[in-house]
Amino acid sequence: MTGQPTHFDIIIIGSGPAGFTAAIYAARGGASTALFGGVAPGGQLLQTMEIENYPGFVNPVVGADLMQTMLKQAARLGTTVFTEEINEVALSDRPFRLIAGSGKVYTAGSVIIATGARARWLGMPSEQKYIGKGVSGCATCDGFFFRGKEVCVIGGGDSAAEDALFLTKFASRVYMVHRRDKLRATFRLQEKLRANPKIEIVYGHTPEEITGEAKVNGINIKNVKTGASRRLETTGIFIAIGHVPATSIFKGKLNLDESGYIVTDDKLATSVFGVFAAGDVMDTRYKQAIVAAGAGCKAAMEALLYLEEVKK
Ligand code: NAP
Repeated sequence: MTGQPTHFDIIIIGSGPAGFTAAIYAARGGASTALFGGVAPGGQLLQTMEIENYPGFVNPVVGADLMQTMLKQAARLGTTVFTEEINEVALSDRPFRLIAGSGKVYTAGSVIIATGARARWLGMPSEQKYIGKGVSGCATCDGFFFRGKEVCVIGGGDSAAEDALFLTKFASRVYMVHRRDKLRATFRLQEKLRANPKIEIVYGHTPEEITGEAKVNGINIKNVKTGASRRLETTGIFIAIGHVPATSIFKGKLNLDESGYIVTDDKLATSVFGVFAAGDVMDTRYKQAIVAAGAGCKAAMEALLYLEEVKK
């Protein structure tokens, strides 16, 4: 973009609910604000067909539409939205220096990181083909659409256990397919799983192929010991094998936990003074759009206070 400024009071990296909410608050707070959202701004919600747990919408809203609305709102309030990515950051410089994919250098008085996390996928071609057509990485988002249907959860950790339990509210039967013969989920969750008559835990199996036509109609799984195949006729397949925070460019520059999430304090400050993080990139627990939006608001308010402080 020629003619655009390259210095901003606040630069936000990431374009999910945390990023756009941070932009809305930063711009309304009087800061010159830029948001780098990559070529397809919107984050994980772009993959969500319908959202009906985000307040303010009587009827379900398509994820991509909600994100477009947030983008327009942030832009109307004065945020400069760049459709490129930040590939490199220099957080020991003041102002902070951010290098975009084009090689162009931007500087900022404060930085808010809202790069999110993505559901970890199995990586099978048939899984990728049916994302949004029966394959989901978010039971809270999509479980409701499987009322009375048989569904399957892949994974054996806390997320998979919580997803399986949550899905029993809607589904007639929930298979939990785990690759080992012992769950990783906490004991309490395991007790709840075993006590729920709708749940069948299928130990020692891995997914082989997801099948379907326009939408998923089942999954073939393989016994890891015998190699025998088993077919589950499920229309919903929830992948819950963990999340991957998008923090590769911050490694060695900010404190990250052992899973790669950015470590923040209760004011969303990172280990670098003036750099804040919000949303799924630092949230190891909730991973919900509304929580991310709230965190984006907090991060922007703290960034504005930080800029006031350093001006003094
Ligand atoms: P996780 O603990 O890393 O568990 C991932 C599960 O997926 C494991 O059972 C793993 O199998 C399985 N898995 C990984 N890759 C796989 C693959 N390629 N194919 C098949 N299975 C695969 O991830 P998480 O459950 O998302 O939890 C992440 C963190 O958040 C944990 O610290 C967890 O305690 C926390 N969490 C807490 C709560 C809560 O407190 N209520 C809720 C959700 C998450 P193996 O067991 O064989 O490795």
